[in-house]
Amino acid sequence: MNPWFGKAIIIASSIVMVIIRAPHGQRSRGVKVARSRRGALEIVLLTIAWLAFFAPLVWAAAPVFAFADYPLHPVPFLAGVACLAVGLWLFARSHTDLGTNWSITLEIREKHELVTKGIYRKLRHPMYAALLLYSLGQILVVPNWIAGPSYGVAMALLFAFRLGPEERMMLEEFGKDYEEYRGRSKRLVPGVW
Ligand code: SAH
Repeated sequence: MNPWFGKAIIIASSIVMVIIRAPHGQRSRGVKVARSRRGALEIVLLTIAWLAFFAPLVWAAAPVFAFADYPLHPVPFLAGVACLAVGLWLFARSHTDLGTNWSITLEIREKHELVTKGIYRKLRHPMYAALLLYSLGQILVVPNWIAGPSYGVAMALLFAFRLGPEERMMLEEFGKDYEEYRGRSKRLVPGVW
């Protein structure tokens, strides 16, 4: 398959992701941060995530990663498009349900509310699940050993270091309510983990 199919899909998906996040980011910025847990590790991991987000766009625009290209095949490509589509849908749903309680990092906002409804009823980290699904889609549609897995590696690293501290922060903030919520929900995979 012509790699331009992969290039077109990943450019379109990146734009859709930015469009989904933009209004929520703007609304959240209007609500003051009450407590922040953004440490040095978070800053490093978020910087890596940003660079990784742009890697496939650089691959699509210039031949810098061309030495790591491999052929694109229709079956992984179509599976990748499906992962990107479901990932973006879940990303939009979780942003809508989380509302102004969203932050790019570990923060509690003023009048922060614990969300346990909608997509958060069964999963505590649907947005992270969405980004991991999106990353899998990127691996499948970007036939390049560097630009393909870049976002997946960055997201896996970020969430590996963040999940524990985020849940501890929520537990300290919401006490018994979060404890009960944790007891009846899963982290990333419905019914499994
Ligand atoms: N981990 C969640 C949220 C990601 S955004 C997900 O994957 O969907 C990260 C911020 O969301 C955290 O700093 C915290 O302030 C907030 N947050 C996480 N879970 C929340 C919940 N259930 N209700 C309200 N805010 C939450």
